[in-house]
Amino acid sequence: MTSHPKSDPSAPACRTCSKTDCSAGQRRSNESDADFADRQKLESRLCRIRHKVVVLSGKGGVGKSTVAVNLAVALMMSGSRVGLLDVDIHGPSIPTMLGLEHHTLGGSDGEIAPADVDGLKVISIGLFLPSQDDAIIWRGPLKMGAIKQFLKDVAWGDLDFIVIDSPPGTGDEPLSVCQLIGRLDGAVIVTTPQRVAAVDVRKSITFCRQLQVPVLGVIENMNGFACPKCGEITSIFRSGAGKSIANDMGVPFLGSIPLDPQIGEACDSGQAFVRRYAASPTAALMRTIIQPIAALT
Ligand code: ADP
Repeated sequence: MTSHPKSDPSAPACRTCSKTDCSAGQRRSNESDADFADRQKLESRLCRIRHKVVVLSGKGGVGKSTVAVNLAVALMMSGSRVGLLDVDIHGPSIPTMLGLEHHTLGGSDGEIAPADVDGLKVISIGLFLPSQDDAIIWRGPLKMGAIKQFLKDVAWGDLDFIVIDSPPGTGDEPLSVCQLIGRLDGAVIVTTPQRVAAVDVRKSITFCRQLQVPVLGVIENMNGFACPKCGEITSIFRSGAGKSIANDMGVPFLGSIPLDPQIGEACDSGQAFVRRYAASPTAALMRTIIQPIAALT
């Protein structure tokens, strides 16, 4: 086993700040030297990130990654320093959405340099795969290890926000994120308006409650169709299930995003919609919807 220096309880826990009561400085009774050093490294990284927000959904294909990318870029456009972490180990779509399919990761001294997309720091398991077609078969503990490495060994630097795009459902990845980060500001839950999606929203809210992660709000995506010619929004699905469940379960409803062909187009061309079509009514709507997150202090 590698030996690590023992901690001096009166010394600052890490080089990040001068707090002497930080948990990073307190060695746990059953912790080995290596585990203690590992936890200190993780906590000192997280200490430099002011707000941590995870984006969840009950089902795939509801636009969770689209919301994560646009939330991160909109926060950055409003002047924040932002990182985007994609922990969807089985279907990472962030590299495609941000035009990073051919990005080569760099780094030095055991640190991984995140990709930089016009100032947005991005890490995705997709950036580590030799080919987009590669499938990963990983069990829970390995996934947890990979996510820990993304948080601990990536040179995130000082950030105002990290937005974490988690795979659909309530499985290993969102659980690992919540357990590793510990103090998340909260979760944004993305759904579609149909009633069939409702049960999954309830599960996501219950998951957050069990882990004591605040629910920052529910976003109903694909609610109506935004006509590219006249801008009128035509409703497609009848029920506003996301909104009524948010109300029923006492969590904020952040708002609805329509189906907008320009969102799909921006996404396929590797550009964030809120930047590419910043002047469009749907982009203005997105900026309004994320206001409560931008306003986190
Ligand atoms: P998820 O992460 O929930 O699996 P994605 O964000 O990958 O879903 O979105 C799936 C597809 O739907 C993507 O091609 C994306 O561009 C498209 N999409 C998502 N939201 C919208 C929307 N509001 N309007 C048009 N296309 C959308």
